[in-house]
Amino acid sequence: MDSFDHLADPRIVAAAGDAARRIAARAEGESESDSFLAGCIDDLRDSGYLRIIVPERLGGLGGSIVDVCVAQEKVSRAFGSAGLTANMHLQYLGSSLVSGMWPEERLDAFLRGVTEHGWIINNCQAETELGSPARGGLHHTTATRAKGGWRIDGKKSWSTAAPHLTHFAVGATVRADSMPEHLGQFLVRRDAPGVRIDPTWDALSMRESASHDIVFEAVHVPDEDVIRVSPAGDRYVPPLETAPWHGLPFAATYIGIAVAARDFAARFAATRIPSNLGHPIGDLPAVRAKLGEIEALLFASRRMIFDTARDWVEAKAPREQVAAQVPMVKYWATNNAVHVTDLALRITGGFGLMESNPVERCFRDVRAGLIHPPLDDVTLATAATLAMREFQH
Ligand SMILES: Cc1cc2nc3c(=O)[nH]c(=O)nc-3n(C[C@H](O)[C@H](O)[C@H](O)COP(=O)(O)OP(=O)(O)OC[C@H]3O[C@@H](n4cnc5c(N)ncnc54)[C@H](O)[C@@H]3O)c2cc1C
Repeated sequence: MDSFDHLADPRIVAAAGDAARRIAARAEGESESDSFLAGCIDDLRDSGYLRIIVPERLGGLGGSIVDVCVAQEKVSRAFGSAGLTANMHLQYLGSSLVSGMWPEERLDAFLRGVTEHGWIINNCQAETELGSPARGGLHHTTATRAKGGWRIDGKKSWSTAAPHLTHFAVGATVRADSMPEHLGQFLVRRDAPGVRIDPTWDALSMRESASHDIVFEAVHVPDEDVIRVSPAGDRYVPPLETAPWHGLPFAATYIGIAVAARDFAARFAATRIPSNLGHPIGDLPAVRAKLGEIEALLFASRRMIFDTARDWVEAKAPREQVAAQVPMVKYWATNNAVHVTDLALRITGGFGLMESNPVERCFRDVRAGLIHPPLDDVTLATAATLAMREFQH
């Protein structure tokens, strides 16, 4: 398969390769216990992967969106849930570096913690009652004024890697005298009193991702750990600069999982010799057609991801145009990943259904790609609006 490593910083390619090797070796053993994901996070930390996005002045490798996409494909190819965990950390930090949401000094201090102490964070926004926060709406989790800071009460769901993170970025509805209600953001330490993990995660996809509920009961967040509270109650509107981070790393993550399914299917096609046939099934036109289609889908998806990321970094195309393409890239990559794993399962037959090989896991894992924002229905509705715009008054 073509490599796109040449597009990325060699130091970041090396860190991703190292992390992927460690995680793949770990997955050869037992992957079902809670300690598996904790071990994968150690692998990400020990390979230097958690800091690839941190600016060089703060001890990191200063990765761009291109670097992160190339690297995420590699790590996710090794194991989906580990890739998703890494993705949540990197895309949140990548976006935070340009979002203007964090006070600058606070973000620098946090990023120093990533390089010096191996801190790992996730953006914990989703709630059962709210559904996808990407559709807007105030959160049930609340932030009320407390001495020297804020008190957080509520619950977050689908919080990837929750038990193994060091920090959570938590969205909460700010309720304070003299401030209109609005959505604030708070940095919460995993070990803060009042934080509890409810082990609710029993999903079809990303089973090893420990995307459990986090319960906050009178959790104190000191003023210095406020990411954003607007005394005027202004709604936060992400600047254009955050656009590639809201879609491209997810696209690369899920395509990485599809590549892993392809790896197994290609090896199977080349080596499986049923006694009724007497030669590898990869010689059969029907199998070759499926494997060829997988290659076509992966090629188109990878080109789309890496070229769009490169367009963003090189800034040769108008920023608004590339930003508008990002949801389309995520749409194609995640839907193609579903299609690829379906074809891989058809090639591998009854063997593919077995938990003992990775196609079964990849087939389940890629379904989750459809649920992350940007959401397909929003992407397609926006595309339809744009298509009609030049013909409307
Ligand atoms: C593996 C995995 C890991 C995740 N990790 C995290 C994480 O770390 N942090 C985090 O914050 N979130 C995370 N999420 C949550 C995810 O991003 C969603 O927020 C969450 O799954 C809720 O969205 P939903 O579509 O499932 O539910 P809902 O938003 O309730 O939607 C349910 C259904 O109704 C439809 N629907 C709902 N509202 C509308 C509407 N207004 N218009 C049209 N259709 C609508 C949806 O399309 C969907 O089909 C994760 C999810 C998964 C699957």
